[in-house]
Amino acid sequence: MNYDLIVIGGGPAGYVGAIRAAQLGKKVACVENDRAGGTCLNWGCIPTKALLKNAELYHTLAHRADEFGLKIDGLSFDWSKVVGRSRKVSDQLNKGIEFLFKKNKIDYIRGTGSIPAAGKVEVTAADGSKQSLSATKILIATGARSRPMPGLPFNGTTVIGSREALTLESQPKEILIVGAGAIGIEFAYFFNAYGTKVTVIEMQDRILPVEDDEVSKLLERSLTKAGIRVLTSTKILEASEDGKQVTLKVEGAANETLTAEKCLVAIGVAPVLPDGTKLTVSDKGWLNTNANYETSVAGIYAAGDIIGPPWLAHVASYEAIQAVEGMFGKTKPKKVTVFPGCTYCHPQVASIGLTERDAKAKGLNFKVGKFPYTASGKALAVGEPEGFVKILYGEPHGEIIGAHIIGADATEMISEIGLGITLEATRDEIEATIHAHPTLAEMIHEATGVAMGHPIHV
Ligand SMILES: Cc1cc2nc3c(=O)[nH]c(=O)nc-3n(C[C@H](O)[C@H](O)[C@H](O)COP(=O)(O)OP(=O)(O)OC[C@H]3O[C@@H](n4cnc5c(N)ncnc54)[C@H](O)[C@@H]3O)c2cc1C
Repeated sequence: MNYDLIVIGGGPAGYVGAIRAAQLGKKVACVENDRAGGTCLNWGCIPTKALLKNAELYHTLAHRADEFGLKIDGLSFDWSKVVGRSRKVSDQLNKGIEFLFKKNKIDYIRGTGSIPAAGKVEVTAADGSKQSLSATKILIATGARSRPMPGLPFNGTTVIGSREALTLESQPKEILIVGAGAIGIEFAYFFNAYGTKVTVIEMQDRILPVEDDEVSKLLERSLTKAGIRVLTSTKILEASEDGKQVTLKVEGAANETLTAEKCLVAIGVAPVLPDGTKLTVSDKGWLNTNANYETSVAGIYAAGDIIGPPWLAHVASYEAIQAVEGMFGKTKPKKVTVFPGCTYCHPQVASIGLTERDAKAKGLNFKVGKFPYTASGKALAVGEPEGFVKILYGEPHGEIIGAHIIGADATEMISEIGLGITLEATRDEIEATIHAHPTLAEMIHEATGVAMGHPIHV
């Protein structure tokens, strides 16, 4: 079979790239060795959000029922149903992608793809049978997997990655979480909400180190108040496990030996490369691509996690669309410059563009507008007074250079700012936009008023 495009990997880069190529009238195959939808739908974005929704609901009922006038006796939970709901959501979406493959007449081929040469893909099915395919273009979208911690390899029982953490058969009594990036923090919130004793260990001086300093500080305060032990500026000196528990000797915020029945290692991701043709990679192993998303071998392209940071599903899909439209001459591909990043614990965190710290380091002249959730009628009405919206506007033109939101629905609100940046909106235009009342999004309007020196509600 000769295809216009064979995509290896069926995640947000792979399936989206395959669909876009089919929409352009191309004959496409997508090769996947696990489940359509990739990490995102099956083992990442989606099942974690399902778990987090359960956790937030349970936490609210367990700790705030009285505030909302509810009387609940004997509130409890069924762990297998908590995990089961998240698996059901993933299953539903996984089937949805298979349906989209059919709808777009994409050949969905189950198996592991390798690239013996440019234009050739060999697929090895689970039963060992092989088939050889050829294509004018190949798109590698094979993604990434959890990065192990030196000296403490994953064993799937006591030392786990995010994939195992999603499907634990029973609730752990205690868990050590190494790494306070988005994945570590989301799991910390999830397990703590159900009463697991959670300790987060982070080498850097704050949690969510890529976020705005004030956001990290408020989130740490909130998570600590909720019962999570957060150890920042903390190094792991020794790590071991004996089949029953993990022991970490740490130095920094605490100088002690920590033990727990589980240790979730969430220190980042490592590339998953297909076998075959040698392609040029970065010093950390990510595929190098040029401005057209083409690798070091002509006709072999790559998109998504496999080409390096930021490791985000929406970035992966964007890159795949750019790569495919470029390879079939539809548009000149663009690289990712501005993108939102979100963490779905409670309070949520969302950001786009530069942090205040980065803007200062670049010597930019800018004004900050910050508005607290406590001053928003909607935030109070829905019982979510924690958080703030912070927007950085450049001087003298008032362009948006960054936005940082912590609080309820932050991850929904950030899209307005993303659109504003794409349209090169200024603070005057954001201010001239009537925002519905009462909404949390009004805080974007209000923060803009703060930046302009004439806020109404603070
Ligand atoms: C716990 C967790 C939570 C996350 N939450 C978010 C979030 O909230 N928002 C967000 O934007 N991002 C999130 N991410 C990151 C997001 O999942 C990834 O950025 C995204 O899935 C990358 O898409 P991709 O298509 O590049 O790779 P993947 O989704 O990893 O897809 C690659 C696919 O290729 C398959 N594959 C690999 N090698 C081969 C081969 N040789 N042959 C055939 N198939 C192969 C793999 O099995 C996989 O299915 C999260 C990740 C994790 C782990």
